[in-house]
Amino acid sequence: MAADPLPIFLAAVLGLVFGSFLNVCIYRLPRDLSVVTPRSFCPECGTQISWRDNIPLLSYLVLHGRCRGCRKPIGIRYLIVEVATAGLFAITVAKYGVTAPAFKWLIFESFMIVLFWTDLEERLLPDEITIGGAVLGLFCSFFIPLHSAIGDLILAGLGWRPRSVINAILGALVFTIPIWAVAHIWQRFRKREVLAFGDIKLLLLMGVFLGMDDDLVACLIGSIIGSILGLAYILWTRKGWTYELPFGSFLCIGAVIAPLISGG
Ligand SMILES: [Zn+2]
Repeated sequence: MAADPLPIFLAAVLGLVFGSFLNVCIYRLPRDLSVVTPRSFCPECGTQISWRDNIPLLSYLVLHGRCRGCRKPIGIRYLIVEVATAGLFAITVAKYGVTAPAFKWLIFESFMIVLFWTDLEERLLPDEITIGGAVLGLFCSFFIPLHSAIGDLILAGLGWRPRSVINAILGALVFTIPIWAVAHIWQRFRKREVLAFGDIKLLLLMGVFLGMDDDLVACLIGSIIGSILGLAYILWTRKGWTYELPFGSFLCIGAVIAPLISGG
């Protein structure tokens, strides 16, 4: 753990600002709207949000979570995303310091936060994040060494850079292909979609960033959390067993936890 509290504090502030932007992405990407223009507006009344009402955290508290124009409640999600991003950024910098790997994880966490909510709210995992992110993850592996126990053992003869890139590719494929195959066979029997193609692309993105070891941890955590929460939700709301669970959201939870508890 880095002892210096200043970078951790700055990371939290950066997280609040970034979280505000991620909220825009969560709303606009599934609707195929630009995340750059126009300025933020209230989804209820369409009023443009002025800069003073768009300050992360503070504006929400000052306005008591309501739009200044129509007084309709602003979803609690806006606050949760800002605070969660700040928290994750702070923990990441505390663990990794101000380093290139820390920077990589901040980007990855941002992707996971967006995908968690778009899957939860719309059952959509936008390609801009999954495919675009996977390409960026592969690019990162050229500059930031990505390890995995098996990969490092088999590829011991190679230099760190090709080893890192192959580890990223292996990470992307090792779980994605079998899970996709099982889902495909299962689908034939159930005659219903069990795993959307978006989930497969999410697994691709996770593997490229996490590598095999952390990806396995992420999938395990995600599956356990998903099973517990999914079962609880179905029993609680009596939605029935046909209810489509946001499997991607659970994977995203595992994906942000794995690099924070791993050896790094
Ligand atoms: Zn409004």
